Amino acid sequence: MHMTPEEFRRHGREVVDWIAAYLEQLEELPVASTVEPGWVRAQLPEHAPEHGEPFADVLADLDRVIVPGLLHWQSPGFFGYFSANSSGPSILGELLSAGLGVQGMLWSTSPAVTELETHVLDWLVELLDLPERFRSTGTGGGVIQDSASSAVLCAVIAARERAGGAALVGYTSTQTHSSVEKAFRIAGLGAESLRLVPVDEAFALDLDALRALVAEDHAAGLTPFFCCATVGSTSSEAIDPVRAIGELCRREGIWLHVDSAMLGVAAICPEHRPLLNDGLELADSYCTNAHKWLLVNFDCTLFWVADRAALISSLSVLPEYLRNAASESGAVIDYRDWQVPLGRRFRALKLWMVLRHYGADGLRAVLREHVSMTREAETWLAADDRFELLAPPGLNLLCFGLRNRPDEETERLMAAVNATGEAFLTHTKLDGRFAIRLMIGSARTERRHVERVWELLQQHAPEPARISSPD
Ligand code: PLP
Repeated sequence: MHMTPEEFRRHGREVVDWIAAYLEQLEELPVASTVEPGWVRAQLPEHAPEHGEPFADVLADLDRVIVPGLLHWQSPGFFGYFSANSSGPSILGELLSAGLGVQGMLWSTSPAVTELETHVLDWLVELLDLPERFRSTGTGGGVIQDSASSAVLCAVIAARERAGGAALVGYTSTQTHSSVEKAFRIAGLGAESLRLVPVDEAFALDLDALRALVAEDHAAGLTPFFCCATVGSTSSEAIDPVRAIGELCRREGIWLHVDSAMLGVAAICPEHRPLLNDGLELADSYCTNAHKWLLVNFDCTLFWVADRAALISSLSVLPEYLRNAASESGAVIDYRDWQVPLGRRFRALKLWMVLRHYGADGLRAVLREHVSMTREAETWLAADDRFELLAPPGLNLLCFGLRNRPDEETERLMAAVNATGEAFLTHTKLDGRFAIRLMIGSARTERRHVERVWELLQQHAPEPARISSPD
């Protein structure tokens, strides 16, 4: 009944071959799925199988039912949202993690799961040139969370524990990811306890407005306790003034969380550190997603705290059945106390494999190529007066629209490009205007793919209105 080791070997090879073939043919597939709602379910039997089926049938259905219902996030023509890359070593790391099938909730439930994670996150403090206080060898430490959303939730809970008391209020900009509001709701603080601070013309948090709100809340007898600054906002990669925000938070005893989900990993390139890391030594917690731009497949959020005791005291509950000598010795990390769930996957394995396969220089080369292609696309946009940038250009993101044209035309342009199946773009709204986002951060995207999406944009953009002369 169980798959025998021999069958596992055979089917395992088939699956790896299937994945390799999928990745090879990605460029030929239309990037976005065109199925109608309900199509995928309509292909599936109404009832679960009563008897086991041949593995070959399942693989065949992968091609027949699943692939047509996919948006191909690994396609070189994927320019939407933020990238969610995977890579060969990451896929294999994920497979190994499933193969080992271990749980890393306590150090004692698999010491290697915990120690590899702690070690690799310390490596990353060095590779990204993050403040020393995030290292596990001091008061802080890093942990892999499933998502940036979970990371900010843990930060909010730790900050609440540190602040104590009632009438707590937090701050973040109007451009911050919705996960911060969600964290406030989950933590029982309510969305009304989160002040949305206005932004400046570059969509970065307006410091004077933050100062005024904090003063107002103090005057009203409330306790400011948490602030989330964003380095690389989801809409336009805007960068909040972290140092100035951090100085204010220090003075006020406010926990500062910095969310750099997309861009943070780019600090592996020294040239981006002044932009991305300035003021981070003032942060109480920090997160960046290896599962966006660092070629590690979802899920792999890197989350660091400067004072791990604050996090652990807010999340630790110790039932009798988890007591063990190693935990009681105080000499080990039990990551269950650093996250919401108890169980945890061996996520460090895929991160470790990616770091070892590419090396820091290999990863830098990939990121630099994306940044350089983005700079080039920026010059193309600037040279065509039918287009205009609607936000300052980001490291790997351009937000733009049609100049002097109604939003509907920009929206139609995006739809026309997406309908070709050769490229996939998504949008945002900036200052109320519809903006196409061109995100150049997919591992398989080469210069020719960026040239092609630009060609498609030019082909489908309306010609400028001609000023007709009276004769
Ligand atoms: N924060 C920022 C700035 C993001 O851009 C995103 C997602 O794009 C998130 C948080 C949420 O990420 P996750 O899916 O890891 O929760």
